[in-house]
Amino acid sequence: MTPAPQTRDPLTPPLLDAQGRTMTYLRLSVTDRCNFRCTYCSPASWGGKKDLLEPGEFERIVSVFARMGIRRVRLTGGEPLIRPDILEVAGRIAAVSGVERVAITTNASHLERLALPLREAGVSQLNISLDTLSEATFRSISKQGDFASILKGIDAAAGAGYASLKLNVVVMRGVNDAEVPALVSYAHARGMTPRFIELMPFGQGTPVPTAELVERLQATGLELAAEEEQQSAATAGPARYWRAPRGLVGFISPLTQNFCGGCNRVRVASNGDLRSCLGGRAQAPLHALIRGGATDTELALAIRGALGEKPEGHRFTEPGAGASLLSMMGIGG
Ligand code: SAM
Ligand code: SF4
Repeated sequence: MTPAPQTRDPLTPPLLDAQGRTMTYLRLSVTDRCNFRCTYCSPASWGGKKDLLEPGEFERIVSVFARMGIRRVRLTGGEPLIRPDILEVAGRIAAVSGVERVAITTNASHLERLALPLREAGVSQLNISLDTLSEATFRSISKQGDFASILKGIDAAAGAGYASLKLNVVVMRGVNDAEVPALVSYAHARGMTPRFIELMPFGQGTPVPTAELVERLQATGLELAAEEEQQSAATAGPARYWRAPRGLVGFISPLTQNFCGGCNRVRVASNGDLRSCLGGRAQAPLHALIRGGATDTELALAIRGALGEKPEGHRFTEPGAGASLLSMMGIGG
């Protein structure tokens, strides 16, 4: 008699996508609401929705992913720190067995109050967004953000003992591209790694290619040595790094240096839908499944099903790409 075929437990690692890439990193959007509404990120009409998932539901989703091989979790949004229960969300996720690192991407507006409690809750890394050192330029990017609170929040984070602090800058031609050297100095003076991001087509603005920024920095006399592959592999992220005298300088270049080949990340949007790719639409309704009483095995099967459709890469550079994308606010970058 032929033995019955062994069916693999869907909860057992590795978590592979359709291209055979192993997923170890989860980006979790904990809200699609934001107190800044930056022009390049937030559609003018975007109102944001009521936060749907409870802390226990995030914990459940993360624990299923952790059983499947996810080791790092990033909380993002919208602005994650406007959730009143963010300390509970972060703490519960940091305590999930198998999760090695919890990071947050934030606009820093609530960090003066939260930098230390978040670290105590188990968050070890912060990526902070700051596009300009000029209040007037900031005002042209965000009508409603509070510029002073960002600077205070960054200083609080710099003094709170995080293992890693990065400063994310989305570069827009004619808006903040001239400030790139000053932003490098600002970040390095606070022990942060600046990272310059090519603008993706989610909102307004004109991108500046990474190569041009590197040339500009070198033209100011800054010595930059390519650090590249080693560092990229270590962080398993899309950034490529150069070494400057006072620290690293990173570039994230979705338009000119496609980073999809080494993608190890999976996203859950603020409504609880798994999104297999920032630039795609394959998804699984994890929140609805949880509310419907799904078992961990059923959740794992849904996750594997959506990842089975994960595309090879995004198509941001194709004409009209922006129109077909899901909102950055809901997916969380
Ligand atoms: N509110 C938080 C913040 O601003 O850091 C987290 C969410 S935000 C969507 C995550 C990251 O996406 C930020 O670093 C932001 O600068 C980046 N981002 C938003 N829109 C972008 C765009 N059109 N192109 C490139 N990066 C973008
Ligand atoms: Fe809000 Fe961050 Fe998007 Fe700016 S980049 S609108 S702060 S979510």
